[in-house]
Amino acid sequence: FRGQVTLDGPSGTGKSSVARAVATRLGADYLDTGAMYRAATVAVLDAGVDLDDADGITRAVAAADIRIGTSAAAELVLVDGVDVAERIRGAEVTRAVSPVSAVPAVRRLLVDRQRALVAAADAVVVEGRDIGTVVLPDATCKIYLTAAPEVRAERRAGQLGVSDPARIAQIAADLRRRDEYDSSRADSPLRPAEDAIVVDSTGLDREAVVERVLDLAGT
Ligand code: C5P
Repeated sequence: FRGQVTLDGPSGTGKSSVARAVATRLGADYLDTGAMYRAATVAVLDAGVDLDDADGITRAVAAADIRIGTSAAAELVLVDGVDVAERIRGAEVTRAVSPVSAVPAVRRLLVDRQRALVAAADAVVVEGRDIGTVVLPDATCKIYLTAAPEVRAERRAGQLGVSDPARIAQIAADLRRRDEYDSSRADSPLRPAEDAIVVDSTGLDREAVVERVLDLAGT
């Protein structure tokens, strides 16, 4: 395989594990753009910038040395030389990532870096929200992954080791809030590109979704 597979869609659809598995099977690089926005959020939090100060946020992100690995086998996320791969999955970063990624200048900065990483790869799987629509409009194969909201909340809960129904309902509400926030943005729509193929993972296990994506990628 040569080219770019884009995998967009909301969180809790199994996007990351599918993207990693597809990259591994294709022998392709893997770029998690959500990890990049999360790493940028670490830089903003550590700079002590207010989350409604767009200029301060932009300065903090521009000043940080953010490095994201492109191997599906090993996650590498560094901010100013510090390994933040675990921290970016925590509640503090998850709460702050939407306002940081809503700043247009931050998006411009990170989209440029995403394109540079992709340009350096013969074959790459890129996951995010706006990859097929904004970052790589000419990608070889565009997939938009969806799943029913209840399924997404349950998957997220499973990842977090949560089984209490009240906590799951809270996770579902949080997913909806992030979706609404993410899709209300004019410059980074949470919607499929016109030429994307929508894959609904409700009722499919991960392997079935991976097979479907590999099929669509023409392998
Ligand atoms: O995919 P993940 O849940 O790690 O993404 C975290 C957040 O980063 C999303 O909720 C969204 O606000 C932002 N994001 C984005 N554009 C992308 C990828 C992620 O705005 N391409």
